[in-house]
Amino acid sequence: MEKHNFNAGPSILPRIAIENTAKAILDLNGIGMSLLEISHRSKDFQAVIDEAVALFKEVLNIPEGYQVLFLGGGASLQFCMIPFNMLNKKAAYLETGVWAKKAIKEAKLFGEVAVIGSSSDKNFNYIPSGWQIPADADYFHITTNNTIYGTEIREDFDSPVLLVADMSSDILSRPVDVSKYAMIYGGAQKNAGTAGVTFVIVRDDVLGKVDRAIPSMLDYRIHIKEGSMFNTPPCVSIFTLKETLKWVKEMGGVAKMEELAKERAKLLYDAIDTSKMFEGTAVKDARSLMNICFVMKEQYKDKEDAFMELAKTRGMVGIKGHRSVGGFRASTYNALPLSSVQALINCMHEFEAANS
Ligand SMILES: *Cc1c(COP(=O)(O)O)cnc(C)c1O
Repeated sequence: MEKHNFNAGPSILPRIAIENTAKAILDLNGIGMSLLEISHRSKDFQAVIDEAVALFKEVLNIPEGYQVLFLGGGASLQFCMIPFNMLNKKAAYLETGVWAKKAIKEAKLFGEVAVIGSSSDKNFNYIPSGWQIPADADYFHITTNNTIYGTEIREDFDSPVLLVADMSSDILSRPVDVSKYAMIYGGAQKNAGTAGVTFVIVRDDVLGKVDRAIPSMLDYRIHIKEGSMFNTPPCVSIFTLKETLKWVKEMGGVAKMEELAKERAKLLYDAIDTSKMFEGTAVKDARSLMNICFVMKEQYKDKEDAFMELAKTRGMVGIKGHRSVGGFRASTYNALPLSSVQALINCMHEFEAANS
């Protein structure tokens, strides 16, 4: 049976990126050796990482003065690396979900943290507004897409202080004005590749401003100097990231990714909004194009398990909502075909017809 992969992460990848990774694992570029068994310092791997950096810069239109790093430790390690490298006295954070909360927790180890807006009062189903960024903050941290709750900040706003963004789950889903950010980072495994590599896009001149000593592995300047090879990098994940970027470029770039994302999201949100049994959980003006969260209306709550069962038999994978929201979550990342969204909607209609 055909599977429809709505996993939140690690998640669906372009088939071609998987096939090319598989080939490289058997024999990289016909050199007679596997990607798994060559030195990261070999010219064959250097070409892989160079191409990944070049493609990232090209696809996201990253201006001069920024570095692209591929590190380990996930987005979660960045939660502490960012304040380690950038927080002198005070930082501002927007609390829009569990990932933002985790970032805040780490930052508190390094200085004063001003949480200038929070949507925790409504289980993070909206993006707080009306906040003021304190001019004396070293930086302001946002999470552009809240993977668990299905809310998203989709514009690149001006910030009076350095702007830092966790874009783990919406990177490469729209054109980004990188010049508005001091740093953009994320785990690759949602929309940019597979697990094991973290991308960091950082403006050189924001580093080296803190007084504390920084351990080498946590110092961005060292990773920059060493071209992401201070230690052995996650070679296979970097390869898959490169292949994913190549696919994005060949498909027409991030503008095309945005167009497709809007198409997928509109189809599913329209189905949810016109449904008798289902309803969305995020407020409409904050809805994510990448993670679409919905539940059964109050009077049908007891049917959620039955829907889950039907969905499974129709090939749906990964649609269970995060335990903190419940219900369902369809992650509709770049590589998800529109036909999978349609299959999910067909399944919802089938269930409604049989149960109402
Ligand atoms: C998944 C996710 C993370 C955590 O990423 P790891 O690579 O597992 O550390 C952080 N932020 C957001 C927005 C995420 O979706």
